[in-house]
Amino acid sequence: MAARILEGKVFAAQIKDSLKSEITVLREVNGINPGLAVIIVGEDPASKVYVSNKHKACEELGIYSEVIRLPENVSKQELLERIEQLNNDKIIHGILVQLPLPSHIKADEKEIMNRINPDKDVDGFHPINVGKLGIGEEFLVPCTPHGCIKMLELAQIPISGKRAVIIGRSNIVGKPMFNLLLARNATVTVCHSRTENLAEITRQADILVAAIGKPRFVTKDMVKHGAVVIDVGINRIAEKKLVGDVDFEQVKEVAGAITPVPGGVGLLTIAMLLHNTVKAAQAMCGKNSERI
Ligand code: NDP
Repeated sequence: MAARILEGKVFAAQIKDSLKSEITVLREVNGINPGLAVIIVGEDPASKVYVSNKHKACEELGIYSEVIRLPENVSKQELLERIEQLNNDKIIHGILVQLPLPSHIKADEKEIMNRINPDKDVDGFHPINVGKLGIGEEFLVPCTPHGCIKMLELAQIPISGKRAVIIGRSNIVGKPMFNLLLARNATVTVCHSRTENLAEITRQADILVAAIGKPRFVTKDMVKHGAVVIDVGINRIAEKKLVGDVDFEQVKEVAGAITPVPGGVGLLTIAMLLHNTVKAAQAMCGKNSERI
């Protein structure tokens, strides 16, 4: 039987639709409009595209969006001051610093990201939000793994009790994915470059998540018949050709369900950024009413 293709655009549209009503409530009941600020430093062409896509997605939903463009040679101090202003800006509920940063401040990336108020940390990278996720108090969760979970939930794919295997242990995908699946009662194994007998482990997965960064790494022989395969990878193999970490053509013959690349998980990342912005605004409106 042919695998079910999990189209990102279908699920992203569902997430955006449900956000529309939450935004209306925020506006009409609480009198606030969610606001997102994205800081971009320098002229990295890929970053410019990502930032413009984020801005467009905000406009589509009526979320206030501010793009702060800083010159390539901006100092660490100037960048930190700009973040501090946004931390104190009441119309901004979400702040994101687009990575990568230019080489002269790359080493300070952690300090810069950690300066974002954790209540406005819509990327979910601040240690406070990472810790919350680790103890099962999900607040602002990294967008890509959160998008994978939302997709499974919206597709009504059962997670509880299932055997999940993640290939990749990065802070932005693999590790948060582990916490999200565990919190939903999957039995989770995380694999990485030092894992021995990888295929033996991946073949046990009911849900297999690939977040490796290697084109078409996961082949048919690594996948159990009927497994759900989530491909997080985005690899450019030619000027206009993107492929995932999974060999889609091969693996769709054995999988029960599979995400394509492009057109899969990637489309959910921005939807979850909007979700986090709305969530941050909702959380802040409770706090404002206490403070003011
Ligand atoms: P990282 O490079 O940070 O992590 C890759 C992980 O894969 C590491 O844990 C590494 O292991 C593991 N790995 C590498 N080689 C092997 C191997 N041969 N066998 C088993 N494990 C291996 O990548 P990211 O997590 O940031 O991203 C992963 C992919 O997802 C990339 O293609 C990226 O472009 C994509 N991505 C897509 C997003 C989206 O919006 N759809 C968002 C973010 C990422 P070790 O730790 O031992 O080095």
